[in-house]
Amino acid sequence: MDLEKIITIKDLLGGYKNKKYSSKEVINLFAGRSKALQPKLNHYITLNEDLKNIPEQAIPIAYKDIFSTKGVKTTAASKILQNYVPPFSATVVERLENNNFYSLGKLNCDAFAHGASGENSDFGATKNPYDTSLISGGSSSGSAVAVASGSVLVATASDTGGSIRNPASYNNTVGIKPTYGRVSRYGVTSMTSSTDSIGHLTKTVWDNAYVLNKTAGIDIKDATSSSLIVPDYTKDLENFDVKGLKIGIPEEYFSKDVDSKIIQKIEEFIAIYKNQGAVIVPIKLPNTEYGVATYYIITPSEVSSNLGRLTGVRYGGQRKDFGDEAVRRIMIGTYSLSSGYYDAYYAKAQRVRNAIVQDFTKAYEKVDVIMGPVVPIMPPKIGEIVDDPIKNYLMDVLTVNVNLAGLPALSVPAGFINNIPVGAQIIGPKFSEHLLYKVGAIAEKETEYYKILPNIN
Ligand code: GLN
Repeated sequence: MDLEKIITIKDLLGGYKNKKYSSKEVINLFAGRSKALQPKLNHYITLNEDLKNIPEQAIPIAYKDIFSTKGVKTTAASKILQNYVPPFSATVVERLENNNFYSLGKLNCDAFAHGASGENSDFGATKNPYDTSLISGGSSSGSAVAVASGSVLVATASDTGGSIRNPASYNNTVGIKPTYGRVSRYGVTSMTSSTDSIGHLTKTVWDNAYVLNKTAGIDIKDATSSSLIVPDYTKDLENFDVKGLKIGIPEEYFSKDVDSKIIQKIEEFIAIYKNQGAVIVPIKLPNTEYGVATYYIITPSEVSSNLGRLTGVRYGGQRKDFGDEAVRRIMIGTYSLSSGYYDAYYAKAQRVRNAIVQDFTKAYEKVDVIMGPVVPIMPPKIGEIVDDPIKNYLMDVLTVNVNLAGLPALSVPAGFINNIPVGAQIIGPKFSEHLLYKVGAIAEKETEYYKILPNIN
């Protein structure tokens, strides 16, 4: 295959094996594309323009700008860190660099990963390559857009309440939110330490599994990282038999608050599995409706504590440089943790969180995986909902509970509505990433939606 036509890591590695091109040619091509598309998409905050030390068989990657990169500016998309250059790299960055991944730069996102639209960046909104007047989703906006636009073959990202799955679904890409603790968080700007998960986006399921093979596993620098053995996630992706697999369909994920066109797409997606012999089981996750309220107490509480370190004394600019959304979360968090209100807000939210965990535990007594939509609405125009925090928060209703329960979930392409991508999510029990990939690969093989590329103009 011609280098220009390559959209997957799998094909790239095949070409290297057959000596079709050199590492330098590959990196120059993708770096050139990244630079040419930047004015149209605003997907990068920092472009790597000094392409040196390219390893053999280099795989073009870029990092969400909350991943610390030694010697390279790491802004978290906030003015307060606009000149911050970390003296160390995140564990994930180190692991990928040791496996020939080569960085083309740092990607735009909502500042401190607060958001669902990619508009909360102090460096401007990231644009959706399928229609540049629309939001790209968030908070890992640049990560999804970099992959969708062919600027890189993989991007790292974080998912605290949906930030990998949401932009994955709006950009026709595959996004994994691994089990809490599966991938080290060391060196990634902390948002909500009890729900932050590190993952990545790619065009295909196999590519995603390939990258998780490199990033997952215990890290002595992150006490929450799991010592559980990492399987070969790329194994058996082609020949998985879905017959008898029990797929739970939560009635709450198909409510009247979800766009009916999205529901239709997800039903078509589920039908692929049904036709191949999977058993469809209607289930209930009754606490779904309390997820957003619970998450938006717990998250700001942890955010207010984590952002407390940015005092302008040790590093970073002045506190007046915080954007509106960070300030909102610091205020809400400080309030709900204060002595007079702690029981009424924070402690109560933790109790509801337990109930949400129970919902999933009960469901997995009956089913193997759960399927549903990712975001309840199609991407709005840039600027349309940016001033309405509640509307933004409600975009998270189908994603946050997965984080509150620490579960893994995979977002995979489920088709298009008026040429705009829609994703489906497959949610599993803890440490079921391999199963999620095997299940995701089935629809991918049948639909090949990933081959439908944006026409960027
Ligand atoms: N949209 C959610 C929020 O704003 C999720 C963010 C995330 O996953 N980083 O908190």
